Amino acid sequence: MVLIKFLGACREVGRSAILIESKSGAQCILDYGIRFKGEERLPLKGDIHNLKAIALSHCHVDHSGGLPFLFKDSDIPFFTNPLTLRISEILLQDMIKISNYPYPFGYRELKKIRKNALFLKNGVRQKIDHEFYLTFFSAGHIPGSVSILVEVDQKKILYTGDINNQETNLISPANPHELPEIDALITESTYSDRDHPLREELEKRFIEDTVNTIENGGSVLIPAFGVARSQEILLVLEKYNYRNDIYIDGLARKILTEYSHFPESFRDFTRFKSAAKKAQFVSKEKRKKIGGKSRSLIISPSGMLKGGAAIDYIPTFLNDPNSAVFLVGYQVEGTPGRKLVDEKIFEFKEKGRRTYQSRDMLIKAKCKIEYFDFSSHADKVHLNNYINEIKFRNNSNFIFCVHGDEKSTTSFAHNLSKKNYNSVAPEIGESYIL
Ligand SMILES: [Zn+2]
Ligand SMILES: [Zn+2]
Repeated sequence: MVLIKFLGACREVGRSAILIESKSGAQCILDYGIRFKGEERLPLKGDIHNLKAIALSHCHVDHSGGLPFLFKDSDIPFFTNPLTLRISEILLQDMIKISNYPYPFGYRELKKIRKNALFLKNGVRQKIDHEFYLTFFSAGHIPGSVSILVEVDQKKILYTGDINNQETNLISPANPHELPEIDALITESTYSDRDHPLREELEKRFIEDTVNTIENGGSVLIPAFGVARSQEILLVLEKYNYRNDIYIDGLARKILTEYSHFPESFRDFTRFKSAAKKAQFVSKEKRKKIGGKSRSLIISPSGMLKGGAAIDYIPTFLNDPNSAVFLVGYQVEGTPGRKLVDEKIFEFKEKGRRTYQSRDMLIKAKCKIEYFDFSSHADKVHLNNYINEIKFRNNSNFIFCVHGDEKSTTSFAHNLSKKNYNSVAPEIGESYIL
């Protein structure tokens, strides 16, 4: 008897956390993230009393943000890889520093994450207890991301984490063929009800719009996620031989430097290095000068314009009809980025900024605003392709749909059940026995 308890990411994107318990009561936690809204930002506490291991799929804070909480009063083996650990530390430090939310942990607990970290190579089976094993497989979502196979009491459970089985410039896609036969699948559902545009067409349209803006004497601001997306954009620019000035700022700059220490995590590290070399780093002091330059392209977080260095640049761009702001990631409802795409209005309010100067603003955009869907998640077609390739033992066909909004998780589970899967979109706190 194996128990799977869902502590978060149930019918929502945020606070991913799954508890798996063996018949002898040994426990393992897969991911322990946070969410950005609501009274409670952490996963359910669950009945954690015999935790043998924690495993992390990747560094994004909706998967890693709550980890320090688990190390408050105890030391537990924490399985990850060097790249994910390093980037998680940067993101968690940032989260603790800028958050107004009273997280029940701080830098002390963050330090304990490194102390407890054990590195696991993809494809290597790691024992964590009697008849309890973990194996990582590349997930193709961002550099370092993994899917986690849990073998417990002879059952095999695969947790996809966030996956992408479509080729990107940065990393190789997830490959379902390298997986063994399983008894149950816990899958992300972010884009289970939508398709992304074809990658090549998207890239060409992005390059064309960028070059046109620059050739007309304008500049381009690309507010991108600092982790992976900013670097993917650099590779797209390199692929199409973009020859004008490229600047990179904020967290994107820091992550670019970190990435260069982990060559094995990239699809083509030589190409990555060559793309990275063309990006000029901008310091905070130089921001004003670079922002005012014509024919420049600036890549700077945050991706949804909720903060970061991009906010220092944006007024100049919004007020210049020759320039452009290109959003290159999903824009969550209620964020300044989403409002800018939908209404061409930029409304920014920074709560509790710890400096004198307020960056609050309300500007009607005079420049071009475009949204390019450079996603790092599998879309409807690719998620279904992935599942079709998975082999289930003894027709068990159990699929749990998590990490998606109410509609995408429930409709995904419903559609899979029509294809003879035992599929469900679990609600938070629900447990299932295999
Ligand atoms: Zn992610
Ligand atoms: Zn996620």
